[in-house]
Amino acid sequence: MIFLNPSGAPELGCDACGCRWFDRRTGTCYECSTPVSEESQAEYRQALVEFAQRRSAESEEE
Ligand SMILES: [Zn+2]
Repeated sequence: MIFLNPSGAPELGCDACGCRWFDRRTGTCYECSTPVSEESQAEYRQALVEFAQRRSAESEEE
């Protein structure tokens, strides 16, 4: 699942336990060792892209 942090940036959270701590080398949750699905990783990357686009759109308006 994808969370938004207070600055509006997306963070990847564990589908199983909801924590946000992942070992990025192995792609598993620190808390419960659930592997991050390829689907979730793709969703997270997409959210990051959208966040970056939103940020650059906002800075252009200033
Ligand atoms: Zn977990």
